[in-house]
Amino acid sequence: MTPAEATAPQRVTTPLLHGVNTLLDTPLLPLTDDEIIDTVHDIEHARRILDAAEHRVLVQVCERSIPDKTGTGTLPKFLMHTLRISHRDAAQRNTAVTELGTFHNLHGDQREPQHPETANALAEGAICAEHARKISEILKKIPRHTLAEKYVAAETALADYARTVHVDDMSKVGAKLLSYLDLEGPAPDHRERQRRRGLHLAKPGVDEMARLTGDLTPELTALLEPVLAKWARPGMNNPDDPDSPRGDCEHVDRKAMVAAASRDTRTTAQRNHDAILALLHPETKVDHLGTHRGLPVELILTMGIDQLEEAAGVATTATGGTVPISEALALAAHAKPYLLIFDTHSQPLHFSRRRLASPDQRRVLTATLRGCSRPGCDAPASMCAVHHVTEWARGGPTGIDNLTLACDACHALVNDGPNGWKTVVMDRTSDYPGRVGWIAPKHVDPHQRPRVNHRHHPDELITEARETRRRENQTPPHPTE
Ligand SMILES: [Zn+2]
Repeated sequence: MTPAEATAPQRVTTPLLHGVNTLLDTPLLPLTDDEIIDTVHDIEHARRILDAAEHRVLVQVCERSIPDKTGTGTLPKFLMHTLRISHRDAAQRNTAVTELGTFHNLHGDQREPQHPETANALAEGAICAEHARKISEILKKIPRHTLAEKYVAAETALADYARTVHVDDMSKVGAKLLSYLDLEGPAPDHRERQRRRGLHLAKPGVDEMARLTGDLTPELTALLEPVLAKWARPGMNNPDDPDSPRGDCEHVDRKAMVAAASRDTRTTAQRNHDAILALLHPETKVDHLGTHRGLPVELILTMGIDQLEEAAGVATTATGGTVPISEALALAAHAKPYLLIFDTHSQPLHFSRRRLASPDQRRVLTATLRGCSRPGCDAPASMCAVHHVTEWARGGPTGIDNLTLACDACHALVNDGPNGWKTVVMDRTSDYPGRVGWIAPKHVDPHQRPRVNHRHHPDELITEARETRRRENQTPPHPTE
């Protein structure tokens, strides 16, 4: 402790500052790698709960009208003047307090925060301030006509989800959640979509490049995505790489493709472009292309029996897209697509083919899992390989119960080493019996809890959120202050 600290009056924050100073003075060289990793975790945890603590204090600043008393007028201005922080930082903290702070009514009773589950998660150190900001951004996009109950369920779902995923992944799951919420409401207007459909190829500019823009119907999107998934896969049809395999990824040497993928530096947009180029190129063998002319390459539609009966909601495609049920039924009327219907408990009820031969197992996995099964991964089923939970070499059966989908990147993470991920079949007592759970290495998840991937199942997030709320409403609230 410095002499200045020793003479400073004791404040509520004195132990906090003392603790941080101790950390600053502690020699770190003697610590083991594991201890350093733990320290990284602890500092982040402290930063998060410190944000929650700051919200409590800033609520006091607001409720005591301190900005008025100091002549700054508003909380952001007060923060900018007293802390010398940027306008942007002040605005973000102001929003955070408004949404996550526990304010009081005129009688002094606590009011629930606007985003209560996000506030709880932050106060537990389970999410960071940026997670909370992403949740706020996503919630702002929820249509005004949405029922309050659904809004609450969405907030709970997002806060739950944020506890296990990267900040960068929040927007993607948010988009899925929103499309799910949106489409639960008024049915999407088929006529409006038909009116807006279009593909516009502009005249080439001075650089001889032509701009292609358009609005594709869900039907065309559902047919185009599987083609791009195969032809635009990393490593495929790369004009800059003479050894890059041509055609669709299912009919080429896999080793050559993986090797080409490791050299592939193209963006997704560039790969899509090259895929169309390869598809239309005169050198592409017609008989080879012929297998794709009768599109879809492979279209797997999944829907719930309740959705089917009501002919409302969305079906999911193997490439992670959604198609309104009415259009999905129109597609399914043709022989090519595979249609898998679930009962209300998400158990497969009907598959458009009876015998479960190996390709059919893959189709069932595609329809059930919709994508990579590692928590947080958003690779669609079309980018995944079938993964044995218990390896064949160790006596694992090839039965569907022992199989899951994993994308190449996630598949490579599975190993028995200390930094490897493990996969297990979730037991009967879990919320997702029979699904494959992933256990992160110790430095990611010290508790070693198996988790399933909700990324491709926004409906599960909502159901889980409703359950959480129901359980919370049954237990009496505990005093937090
Ligand atoms: Zn993955």
